[in-house]
Amino acid sequence: MRASPITPTVDFDAEGVQHGFLKLPYSRDDSAWGAIMIPLTVIGRGDGPTVLLTGGNHGDEYEGPIALAKLAASLDAAEVTGRVIIVPYMNYPAFRAGCRTSPIDAGNLNRSFPGRPDGTVTEKIADYFQRHLLERADYVLDIHAGGRTLDFVPFAAIHVLPDGEQQARCERAMRAFGAPYSMRMLELDSVGLFDSAVEEAGKVFVSTELGGGGSATAASVAIADRGLRGFLAHAGVIERTHAAHDPERRTTTLLDMPDGRCYTTSEHRGLLEMCRDLGERVEAGDVLARVHDIERTGTRPVEYVAQCGGLLAARHFPGLVQAGDTVAVVAQVVERNLPVPA
Ligand SMILES: [Zn+2]
Repeated sequence: MRASPITPTVDFDAEGVQHGFLKLPYSRDDSAWGAIMIPLTVIGRGDGPTVLLTGGNHGDEYEGPIALAKLAASLDAAEVTGRVIIVPYMNYPAFRAGCRTSPIDAGNLNRSFPGRPDGTVTEKIADYFQRHLLERADYVLDIHAGGRTLDFVPFAAIHVLPDGEQQARCERAMRAFGAPYSMRMLELDSVGLFDSAVEEAGKVFVSTELGGGGSATAASVAIADRGLRGFLAHAGVIERTHAAHDPERRTTTLLDMPDGRCYTTSEHRGLLEMCRDLGERVEAGDVLARVHDIERTGTRPVEYVAQCGGLLAARHFPGLVQAGDTVAVVAQVVERNLPVPA
Protein backbone atom coordinates (compact mmCIF):
# COMPACT_ATOMS: atom_id res chain seq x y z
CA MET A 1 0.00 0.00 0.00
CA ARG A 2 1.03 3.59 -0.61
CA ALA A 3 3.03 5.28 2.18
CA SER A 4 1.24 7.68 4.51
CA PRO A 5 1.72 11.35 3.58
CA ILE A 6 1.90 12.12 7.32
CA THR A 7 5.34 12.53 8.85
CA PRO A 8 6.00 12.82 12.59
CA THR A 9 8.37 15.54 13.81
CA VAL A 10 9.26 13.31 16.80
CA ASP A 11 11.29 10.11 17.07
CA PHE A 12 8.98 7.51 18.62
CA ASP A 13 11.95 5.47 19.82
CA ALA A 14 13.88 8.29 21.51
CA GLU A 15 14.22 8.65 25.27
CA GLY A 16 12.80 11.62 27.18
CA VAL A 17 9.93 14.03 26.51
CA GLN A 18 9.26 15.26 22.97
CA HIS A 19 6.51 17.70 22.01
CA GLY A 20 5.93 17.77 18.26
CA PHE A 21 3.48 17.21 15.47
CA LEU A 22 2.05 14.81 12.96
CA LYS A 23 2.53 16.84 9.78
CA LEU A 24 -0.17 16.23 7.16
CA PRO A 25 0.39 18.07 3.85
CA TYR A 26 -2.73 20.01 2.87
CA SER A 27 -2.54 22.40 -0.05
CA ARG A 28 -5.28 25.01 0.02
CA ASP A 29 -6.17 28.64 -0.75
CA ASP A 30 -4.53 30.16 2.34
CA SER A 31 -1.43 27.93 2.32
CA ALA A 32 -0.26 26.61 -1.06
CA TRP A 33 2.39 24.25 0.28
CA GLY A 34 0.79 24.05 3.70
CA ALA A 35 0.26 21.29 6.22
CA ILE A 36 -2.09 20.43 9.07
CA MET A 37 0.05 20.20 12.21
CA ILE A 38 -1.53 17.75 14.67
CA PRO A 39 0.11 18.21 18.10
CA LEU A 40 1.42 15.18 19.95
CA THR A 41 3.74 14.31 22.83
CA VAL A 42 5.89 11.21 23.19
CA ILE A 43 7.44 10.31 26.54
CA GLY A 44 9.79 7.35 26.63
CA ARG A 45 12.15 5.79 29.14
CA GLY A 46 13.64 2.32 29.02
CA ASP A 47 11.85 -0.88 28.13
CA GLY A 48 8.18 -1.33 28.87
CA PRO A 49 4.74 -1.23 27.31
CA THR A 50 3.58 1.52 24.97
CA VAL A 51 0.34 3.32 25.81
CA LEU A 52 -1.48 5.42 23.21
CA LEU A 53 -3.78 8.07 24.73
CA THR A 54 -6.17 9.94 22.45
CA GLY A 55 -8.82 12.65 22.62
CA GLY A 56 -10.58 14.81 20.06
CA ASN A 57 -11.55 11.85 17.87
CA HIS A 58 -14.75 13.88 17.69
CA GLY A 59 -13.98 17.59 17.72
CA ASP A 60 -16.69 18.76 20.13
CA GLU A 61 -15.79 16.56 23.11
CA TYR A 62 -13.52 18.21 25.67
CA GLU A 63 -12.55 16.03 28.64
CA GLY A 64 -9.96 14.17 26.54
CA PRO A 65 -8.31 17.26 25.07
CA ILE A 66 -8.17 19.03 28.47
CA ALA A 67 -6.88 16.10 30.50
CA LEU A 68 -4.41 15.00 27.80
CA ALA A 69 -3.05 18.52 27.27
CA LYS A 70 -2.40 18.69 31.03
CA LEU A 71 -0.81 15.25 31.12
CA ALA A 72 1.43 16.05 28.13
CA ALA A 73 2.69 19.18 29.90
CA SER A 74 3.23 17.52 33.28
CA LEU A 75 4.28 13.87 32.88
CA ASP A 76 8.00 13.53 33.55
CA ALA A 77 10.09 10.97 31.69
CA ALA A 78 11.53 9.87 35.05
CA GLU A 79 8.02 8.70 36.06
CA VAL A 80 7.66 6.53 32.95
CA THR A 81 8.77 2.97 32.23
CA GLY A 82 8.08 2.28 28.56
CA ARG A 83 6.37 4.80 26.33
CA VAL A 84 3.37 7.13 26.37
CA ILE A 85 2.09 8.63 23.11
CA ILE A 86 -0.40 11.45 23.71
CA VAL A 87 -2.57 12.86 20.89
CA PRO A 88 -5.11 15.21 22.53
CA TYR A 89 -6.83 16.28 19.28
CA MET A 90 -6.96 13.36 16.84
CA ASN A 91 -9.27 14.97 14.30
CA TYR A 92 -7.50 18.30 14.65
CA PRO A 93 -9.46 20.18 11.92
CA ALA A 94 -12.74 19.13 13.60
CA PHE A 95 -11.38 20.09 17.03
CA ARG A 96 -10.27 23.52 15.76
CA ALA A 97 -13.78 24.08 14.39
CA GLY A 98 -15.49 22.85 17.59
CA CYS A 99 -17.39 20.31 15.50
CA ARG A 100 -17.89 16.54 15.65
CA THR A 101 -16.75 16.12 12.05
CA SER A 102 -14.09 17.79 9.93
CA PRO A 103 -14.96 21.09 8.20
CA ILE A 104 -12.59 20.07 5.37
CA ASP A 105 -14.25 16.87 4.19
CA ALA A 106 -17.18 16.34 6.62
CA GLY A 107 -15.24 13.29 7.82
CA ASN A 108 -16.27 11.56 11.04
CA LEU A 109 -12.90 10.15 12.08
CA ASN A 110 -14.57 7.46 14.17
CA ARG A 111 -16.36 6.13 11.07
CA SER A 112 -13.27 6.38 8.82
CA PHE A 113 -11.08 3.44 9.89
CA PRO A 114 -8.99 1.82 8.52
CA GLY A 115 -8.63 4.99 6.42
CA ARG A 116 -6.71 5.54 3.22
CA PRO A 117 -3.29 7.09 2.60
CA ASP A 118 -4.61 8.61 -0.66
CA GLY A 119 -8.07 9.51 0.70
CA THR A 120 -9.53 12.64 2.26
CA VAL A 121 -7.78 14.47 5.11
CA THR A 122 -9.82 12.53 7.67
CA GLU A 123 -9.06 9.21 5.94
CA LYS A 124 -5.35 10.06 5.93
CA ILE A 125 -5.45 10.65 9.70
CA ALA A 126 -7.25 7.31 10.22
CA ASP A 127 -4.73 5.50 8.05
CA TYR A 128 -1.80 6.92 10.03
CA PHE A 129 -3.29 5.75 13.32
CA GLN A 130 -4.17 2.37 11.81
CA ARG A 131 -0.80 1.56 10.27
CA HIS A 132 1.69 3.50 12.36
CA LEU A 133 0.43 4.28 15.89
CA LEU A 134 -1.64 1.15 16.60
CA GLU A 135 1.27 -1.03 15.59
CA ARG A 136 3.40 0.51 18.35
CA ALA A 137 0.77 0.41 21.09
CA ASP A 138 0.04 -2.29 23.68
CA TYR A 139 -2.71 -0.28 25.42
CA VAL A 140 -5.03 2.33 23.87
CA LEU A 141 -7.37 4.71 25.70
CA ASP A 142 -9.66 6.91 23.55
CA ILE A 143 -11.50 9.55 25.59
CA HIS A 144 -14.93 10.54 24.27
CA ALA A 145 -17.93 12.45 25.62
CA GLY A 146 -21.34 13.22 24.19
CA GLY A 147 -20.41 16.30 22.19
CA ARG A 148 -23.01 18.93 21.39
CA THR A 149 -25.96 16.56 20.88
CA LEU A 150 -25.66 13.94 23.66
CA ASP A 151 -25.01 13.81 27.40
CA PHE A 152 -23.92 10.76 29.41
CA VAL A 153 -23.43 9.53 32.95
CA PRO A 154 -19.63 9.33 33.14
CA PHE A 155 -18.44 5.88 32.10
CA ALA A 156 -15.47 3.99 30.74
CA ALA A 157 -16.45 1.37 28.18
CA ILE A 158 -15.43 -1.81 26.46
CA HIS A 159 -17.12 -4.00 23.87
CA VAL A 160 -18.07 -7.65 24.01
CA LEU A 161 -15.27 -9.28 21.98
CA PRO A 162 -15.01 -12.66 20.23
CA ASP A 163 -11.79 -13.34 22.19
CA GLY A 164 -12.88 -13.73 25.83
CA GLU A 165 -9.33 -13.41 27.12
CA GLN A 166 -8.82 -10.10 25.31
CA GLN A 167 -12.19 -8.89 26.62
CA ALA A 168 -11.13 -9.76 30.18
CA ARG A 169 -7.92 -7.73 29.74
CA CYS A 170 -9.98 -4.79 28.45
CA GLU A 171 -12.40 -5.12 31.39
CA ARG A 172 -9.55 -4.98 33.91
CA ALA A 173 -8.20 -1.82 32.22
CA MET A 174 -11.72 -0.31 32.25
CA ARG A 175 -12.00 -0.97 36.01
CA ALA A 176 -8.58 0.61 36.50
CA PHE A 177 -9.73 3.79 34.72
CA GLY A 178 -12.20 4.01 37.59
CA ALA A 179 -15.01 6.15 36.18
CA PRO A 180 -18.18 6.20 38.31
CA TYR A 181 -19.71 3.79 35.75
CA SER A 182 -18.16 1.03 33.61
CA MET A 183 -20.12 -0.03 30.53
CA ARG A 184 -20.23 -3.07 28.26
CA MET A 185 -21.23 -1.09 25.22
CA LEU A 186 -23.38 -2.12 22.28
CA GLU A 187 -22.71 -0.21 19.04
CA LEU A 188 -25.55 0.46 16.62
CA ASP A 189 -23.02 1.04 13.84
CA SER A 190 -19.52 -0.30 14.42
CA VAL A 191 -18.20 0.00 10.84
CA GLY A 192 -15.16 2.25 10.66
CA LEU A 193 -14.72 2.72 14.42
CA PHE A 194 -11.27 3.37 15.86
CA ASP A 195 -12.48 1.02 18.62
CA SER A 196 -12.87 -1.89 16.20
CA ALA A 197 -9.50 -1.16 14.57
CA VAL A 198 -7.74 -1.30 17.95
CA GLU A 199 -9.64 -4.38 19.12
CA GLU A 200 -9.01 -6.26 15.86
CA ALA A 201 -5.29 -5.47 16.25
CA GLY A 202 -5.49 -7.42 19.54
CA LYS A 203 -4.68 -4.47 21.82
CA VAL A 204 -6.14 -3.63 25.23
CA PHE A 205 -8.69 -0.93 24.45
CA VAL A 206 -10.84 1.29 26.65
CA SER A 207 -13.09 4.10 25.47
CA THR A 208 -15.12 6.54 27.56
CA GLU A 209 -18.18 8.76 27.52
CA LEU A 210 -17.55 11.27 30.30
CA GLY A 211 -20.31 13.85 29.92
CA GLY A 212 -21.47 15.91 27.00
CA GLY A 213 -23.35 18.94 25.79
CA GLY A 214 -20.32 20.30 23.95
CA SER A 215 -18.37 21.33 27.04
CA ALA A 216 -16.71 19.78 30.10
CA THR A 217 -17.22 20.27 33.84
CA ALA A 218 -14.76 20.31 36.74
CA ALA A 219 -16.15 16.93 37.79
CA SER A 220 -15.88 15.31 34.34
CA VAL A 221 -12.32 16.57 33.82
CA ALA A 222 -11.35 15.25 37.27
CA ILE A 223 -12.66 11.81 36.22
CA ALA A 224 -10.51 11.99 33.09
CA ASP A 225 -7.43 13.11 35.08
CA ARG A 226 -7.75 10.27 37.59
CA GLY A 227 -8.67 7.79 34.86
CA LEU A 228 -5.54 8.55 32.84
CA ARG A 229 -3.31 7.94 35.85
CA GLY A 230 -5.20 4.77 36.74
CA PHE A 231 -4.95 3.46 33.18
CA LEU A 232 -1.20 4.22 32.95
CA ALA A 233 -0.59 2.53 36.30
CA HIS A 234 -2.60 -0.50 35.21
CA ALA A 235 -0.43 -0.76 32.08
CA GLY A 236 2.64 -0.63 34.30
CA VAL A 237 3.97 2.56 32.71
CA ILE A 238 3.79 4.67 35.90
CA GLU A 239 3.94 3.66 39.55
CA ARG A 240 0.70 2.91 41.34
CA THR A 241 1.55 5.50 44.01
CA HIS A 242 1.06 8.20 41.37
CA ALA A 243 -2.37 6.78 40.57
CA ALA A 244 -3.66 6.78 44.10
CA HIS A 245 -3.46 10.40 45.15
CA ASP A 246 -7.18 10.70 45.75
CA PRO A 247 -7.81 9.58 49.31
CA GLU A 248 -11.45 8.47 49.07
CA ARG A 249 -12.10 4.84 48.22
CA ARG A 250 -13.57 4.95 44.71
CA THR A 251 -16.06 2.49 43.30
CA THR A 252 -17.58 1.91 39.87
CA THR A 253 -20.99 0.56 38.89
CA LEU A 254 -20.94 -2.00 36.08
CA LEU A 255 -23.53 -1.39 33.33
CA ASP A 256 -24.51 -3.41 30.27
CA MET A 257 -26.35 -2.65 27.02
CA PRO A 258 -27.55 -6.16 26.09
CA ASP A 259 -29.59 -5.33 22.97
CA GLY A 260 -31.12 -2.61 20.81
CA ARG A 261 -34.01 -2.02 23.23
CA CYS A 262 -31.57 0.11 25.21
CA TYR A 263 -31.87 2.80 22.56
CA THR A 264 -34.86 5.12 22.16
CA THR A 265 -34.91 6.96 18.82
CA SER A 266 -37.13 9.93 18.08
CA GLU A 267 -39.61 9.54 15.22
CA HIS A 268 -40.74 13.16 15.47
CA ARG A 269 -39.34 16.65 15.20
CA GLY A 270 -40.14 18.95 18.08
CA LEU A 271 -39.47 20.26 21.55
CA LEU A 272 -37.89 17.68 23.86
CA GLU A 273 -39.10 17.27 27.44
CA MET A 274 -36.93 14.77 29.33
CA CYS A 275 -39.02 13.07 32.02
CA ARG A 276 -36.06 11.33 33.69
CA ASP A 277 -32.58 12.61 34.39
CA LEU A 278 -29.23 10.92 33.86
CA GLY A 279 -28.43 8.27 36.47
CA GLU A 280 -32.08 7.75 37.49
CA ARG A 281 -33.58 4.27 37.80
CA VAL A 282 -36.29 3.57 35.20
CA GLU A 283 -38.69 0.65 34.70
CA ALA A 284 -39.84 -0.77 31.36
CA GLY A 285 -42.87 1.26 30.26
CA ASP A 286 -41.88 4.43 32.11
CA VAL A 287 -42.17 7.62 30.08
CA LEU A 288 -38.60 8.74 29.34
CA ALA A 289 -39.39 11.81 27.27
CA ARG A 290 -42.11 13.75 25.49
CA VAL A 291 -41.77 15.49 22.14
CA HIS A 292 -44.02 18.52 21.77
CA ASP A 293 -45.30 19.77 18.41
CA ILE A 294 -43.72 23.15 17.65
CA GLU A 295 -45.95 23.91 14.66
CA ARG A 296 -49.12 24.53 16.70
CA THR A 297 -50.54 24.67 20.20
CA GLY A 298 -53.24 22.46 21.68
CA THR A 299 -51.81 19.10 20.57
CA ARG A 300 -50.79 16.25 22.82
CA PRO A 301 -47.06 15.50 22.95
CA VAL A 302 -45.71 12.17 21.74
CA GLU A 303 -44.49 10.02 24.61
CA TYR A 304 -41.42 7.80 24.39
CA VAL A 305 -41.35 4.95 26.90
CA ALA A 306 -38.49 2.77 28.10
CA GLN A 307 -38.35 -0.61 26.33
CA CYS A 308 -36.38 -2.09 29.22
CA GLY A 309 -35.62 -1.23 32.83
CA GLY A 310 -32.30 0.04 34.10
CA LEU A 311 -30.49 3.32 34.55
CA LEU A 312 -30.73 6.35 32.25
CA ALA A 313 -27.18 6.41 30.87
CA ALA A 314 -27.51 8.85 27.96
CA ARG A 315 -29.87 11.50 26.68
CA HIS A 316 -30.23 13.87 23.75
CA PHE A 317 -28.74 17.19 24.74
CA PRO A 318 -30.17 20.29 23.07
CA GLY A 319 -33.79 21.30 23.56
CA LEU A 320 -35.03 20.45 20.06
CA VAL A 321 -35.04 17.00 18.45
CA GLN A 322 -35.53 15.72 14.93
CA ALA A 323 -36.63 12.33 13.64
CA GLY A 324 -33.77 9.85 13.97
CA ASP A 325 -32.10 11.47 16.99
CA THR A 326 -31.17 9.23 19.91
CA VAL A 327 -33.41 10.48 22.72
CA ALA A 328 -32.23 8.17 25.49
CA VAL A 329 -30.17 5.09 26.32
CA VAL A 330 -31.19 2.88 29.25
CA ALA A 331 -28.44 0.57 30.51
CA GLN A 332 -28.87 -2.44 32.77
CA VAL A 333 -27.14 -2.36 36.15
CA VAL A 334 -24.98 -5.49 36.45
CA GLU A 335 -23.24 -4.77 39.74
CA ARG A 336 -23.03 -1.71 41.97
CA ASN A 337 -20.04 -0.30 43.85
CA LEU A 338 -17.20 -2.47 42.60
CA PRO A 339 -13.93 -1.25 44.12
CA VAL A 340 -11.53 0.57 41.81
CA PRO A 341 -7.93 -0.70 42.10
CA ALA A 342 -5.94 1.77 44.23
ZN1 LIG B 1 -17.09 10.82 20.47
